[in-house]
Amino acid sequence: MPKYFPTIGIECHVQLKTKTKLFDGVDNDARDAAPNTLIGPLCFGLPGTLPVLNSKAVELCIRAGIALNAEVATYSKFDRKHYFYPDLPKGYQITQFDEPIVLNGRVDAVLASGEIVSVRVERAHLEEDAGKSTHPEGADYSLVDLNRAGTPLLEIVSFPDIHSAAHAKAYARELYLLMRYAGVSDADLFYGNMRFDVNVSICEDPSRLGTRSETKNLNSFRSVEKAVEYEIKRQTELLEKGEKVVQETRGWDDAKQKTFSQRSKEDAHDYRYFPEPDIPPVEIAPETIESIRNEMPSLPSGLREEFAKAGLAQSQIETLLDAPEAAEIMRLIVAGHDQKTARTIGNWLTGELQRLVAAEELSWVKVADSINRLVKLASMIDDGSLSSSAAKTVIVEMIMKGTDPEDIAKSSNLLQVSDESELVGIIEQVISNNSKAADDVKRGEVKAIGFLVGQVMRLSSGQANPSVVAELIRKQLAD
Ligand code: MN
Repeated sequence: MPKYFPTIGIECHVQLKTKTKLFDGVDNDARDAAPNTLIGPLCFGLPGTLPVLNSKAVELCIRAGIALNAEVATYSKFDRKHYFYPDLPKGYQITQFDEPIVLNGRVDAVLASGEIVSVRVERAHLEEDAGKSTHPEGADYSLVDLNRAGTPLLEIVSFPDIHSAAHAKAYARELYLLMRYAGVSDADLFYGNMRFDVNVSICEDPSRLGTRSETKNLNSFRSVEKAVEYEIKRQTELLEKGEKVVQETRGWDDAKQKTFSQRSKEDAHDYRYFPEPDIPPVEIAPETIESIRNEMPSLPSGLREEFAKAGLAQSQIETLLDAPEAAEIMRLIVAGHDQKTARTIGNWLTGELQRLVAAEELSWVKVADSINRLVKLASMIDDGSLSSSAAKTVIVEMIMKGTDPEDIAKSSNLLQVSDESELVGIIEQVISNNSKAADDVKRGEVKAIGFLVGQVMRLSSGQANPSVVAELIRKQLAD
């Protein structure tokens, strides 16, 4: 048992998938935009401008609340939180302080092993993002880009229910899956659509909390895991040396895989929160919440259940969930076909096809166009007309060109011969040429039958169906 017990809480900022900003009718997709092109008077904090709440953002918060197994507040309000940063021209952020839109949730993160990590969500509040400052190296100036200013964010705050780096990573991934499947966010980590702040403390007494550090702005599951690991190690070393952990904000250096001190508690901000006078409180009718609940898309928990019923392995299910397009293909297959078909196609989706998509040789869109052909290909394995290895040869051409799998198998000479009348001549020849092996089979030697099947396969140029051949040899030798 390690001497110190770690406790971790995570705050996650999720960028909501709205067309326009939270309080301003300006385009919200800053991914490919030149700096300071997606801005309105409000982003600049010009005097006299007034915010108008984007109702789509509220709807997405309701969906997020449902996905988080949380209560959606029928009454919430906005507050001003004061910062003095060059990338925040208003001088304050509009956020929610004491009456957030989402409360009391629970996330059940599932590890590839099947282990479940249950984490309670304290709250989730709606707020606007700030702009972005860059400090060119060697220059005596800084640059401010306000494209991101006013982008809607949902900040999801967990209780400190996490106790290892691996579990922190699992929770971060589960939040990502939930926000993506619920259609709340594009959840594109590369563009910083989800950013994690991890609070880590350690204590010898598991019932108490040590002094915590907060490592901010992690943008991958792996960096969440690594930052937690690093903080546990750093804090353990401090305590072992008889030193104290300082409460502070830290950053993550991804190149060095280390956290570093940014600011201590002494320079903590006084936010001077007060209610936002320009935006009325948000009141949501319970019927609105219910109607959104009834129209929610499939969430990870439901998909896990459906895929497990179809006989997919736990690790395959998690692989599918990581690629929502693949999971959607699987959902359609599972809904309309038997277990055997589902398992065969599940193996392709999580094996061969997943590899080809990762190598950018194939797209999930193309695979989705081939659902009927995938089903036919699976049935060809079932009826013995194609071996599973030959199916893998057919599958790429079938998806890329949209060709019927049977036509490809025929023209590439891959169809298996299962017809007794076509095989019996070769089998008789092989038995008479290998009388010793034939005698061994009669005496019940298991290996000998494999040898004879191999001979038949060779003579048929690999086209005989090996399980049919084995059965016919047994039948011949039993007579
Ligand atoms: Mn925040």
